[in-house]
Amino acid sequence: MIRSNDLAGVKSIAIGGHVRPDGDCVCSVMALYHYLKKEIPEAQIDVYLEEPPVVFQILEDIEVIKSEFNTDACYDAFFALDCNEERLGDAQPIFARAKRRINIDHHISNMGCGSEWVVEPEKSSTAELLYEMMDHSLVDEEIAKAIYLGIAHDTGVFRFSNTSPRTMEIAAELLKFGFDFSALIEETYYEKTYLQSQIMGRAILGSVRFMDNRCIVSMVSRRMMEFYCVGPKDLDGIVNQLQGIKGVDCAIFMYETGTLEYKVSMRSNGTVDVSKIAVKFGGGGHVRAAGCMMNGTYHDNINNLSQEIATQLK
Ligand code: 5GP
Ligand code: MN
Repeated sequence: MIRSNDLAGVKSIAIGGHVRPDGDCVCSVMALYHYLKKEIPEAQIDVYLEEPPVVFQILEDIEVIKSEFNTDACYDAFFALDCNEERLGDAQPIFARAKRRINIDHHISNMGCGSEWVVEPEKSSTAELLYEMMDHSLVDEEIAKAIYLGIAHDTGVFRFSNTSPRTMEIAAELLKFGFDFSALIEETYYEKTYLQSQIMGRAILGSVRFMDNRCIVSMVSRRMMEFYCVGPKDLDGIVNQLQGIKGVDCAIFMYETGTLEYKVSMRSNGTVDVSKIAVKFGGGGHVRAAGCMMNGTYHDNINNLSQEIATQLK
């Protein structure tokens, strides 16, 4: 699907990923960009993605990403990575117009979309899946870096249960390219600005535990974000921090995106299937990490989510 023999006649390619792109999404898009440049050098390749978090400027050629989607271009092939069609945001019409609409993803909640798809939920990340689809003789340092970093982000640096023996083998193969993996992970995953750390502290201080302390929830309002001069991209890592608290089976974090509108992130240690809950509310994800958008007051949203959790814990 990403090899030249399968892309005969394809002269123009677009690559896109989901709204609010995370590490796996940004890195997968960039890895495929670099790969297709080598696999089909004569093709024109455009990348459509919402502006990635600044830390990903560490990736070569990240500036090729177009975050303005007003085009009526019709591409021979559009690769939608790490999501289904609905989560492409404003790139959705460009996808819909493409002659071949190719979907590559690892989310269990994605049934596949477009004219052809590969969705493999057992893969740690879309980056890992892409690597398995590549001709490895074409993989160079830039591709290796992007794949490695995508995997590292979606596995919580090889820590989450989606890390398989094969994930580690791939990481080992990629490390042979000799890039500074330690700096890549430190600067894109662990390092937080002072303000990001402050809002994380604030979110943890304001958290509330319920259901015998097995669940925890916290929320950041637009007013709080204004006070700390931060945006949604600065809230990464808060939900994982909540999930890491001893005794917690399920963590919920939400931030206000508009009037009575919240972006919800959920994490679980496996006791609760948060993907099922997210799907109920129009979102998706994995068993242990999922998300959705919710309308209503903060308290109504918690009530609705906790009912679903309670049903599963029964
Ligand atoms: P996060 O909580 O970090 O935003 O996302 C956790 C996981 O759930 C990721 O794999 C992400 O792609 C997925 N996810 C988050 N929000 C949504 C959503 O609104 N819809 C869908 N389909 N998946 C989501
Ligand atoms: Mn993702």
